[in-house]
Amino acid sequence: MEISQDKLPTDRKDVTGPFDIVGDVHGCYAELHALLAKLGYVVTETAVSHPEGRQVVFVGDFADRGPESVGVYRLVPMMVESGVAHAVRGNHDDKLARYLWRTKLLTDRAASKIKLTHGLDKTIEMLEGESMDFRQGLRDFLEPLPYHLVFDGGKLVVAHAGLCERYHGRVNKRVKNYCLYGDVTGETDENGFPIRRDWAQEYGGAAVVVYGHTVVEEAAWVNNTICVDTGCVFGGSLTALRYPERELVSVEALEQYAEHGSLKP
Ligand code: MN
Repeated sequence: MEISQDKLPTDRKDVTGPFDIVGDVHGCYAELHALLAKLGYVVTETAVSHPEGRQVVFVGDFADRGPESVGVYRLVPMMVESGVAHAVRGNHDDKLARYLWRTKLLTDRAASKIKLTHGLDKTIEMLEGESMDFRQGLRDFLEPLPYHLVFDGGKLVVAHAGLCERYHGRVNKRVKNYCLYGDVTGETDENGFPIRRDWAQEYGGAAVVVYGHTVVEEAAWVNNTICVDTGCVFGGSLTALRYPERELVSVEALEQYAEHGSLKP
């Protein structure tokens, strides 16, 4: 069922940037700080700003696998709240939001059948050391996170795992799953990774689509789409795309925090 309202939560068409669209962070807090500094942001304990009024757009997957998920979950909501950043939901954020909800903010582990895999166990452990206020604030941040965002009069679309043209600006269950997991077939390859259709190869839209989720060695344009997840947590780099300039800015990972089967060293 389509949700019908005056302005869908995906609609940021009136926001024109310029933007710096940042790939999957996965707890790489130090690298995020380095990238923001390289992009010209001024970061203090309580505020982030850019002298030229630029804004960050995060493609989601803030936590899991990396060393400082809590730090990232402190910084990003503050940035979004103050209007210097926008964020879409990644599959990791989605899972954590569901876990926090079902376990009543981690007070009742037995209440959830969600598997603590892919680094979620580590994040939960870190969150258990945080106050109830922090967990509540995190849940309040995660719950309304949109699945994708449309900016700049419809010329820029950001979704965690990408989005084909016919779904731009739409909100329903199929679109939600596409945004979180990509155009998956439901099957897995020999390494256990889900098989995805290569939607970007077939993309013919005029809007630029920026996404993450699938680790690439280097961000590269395919039609009007680009994946900016350069696998920082796996020892790659953290990348931002400057829009509308179409320039890439990245910082190297300080170390490899997790193993990734399909990423070459
Ligand atoms: Mn990811």
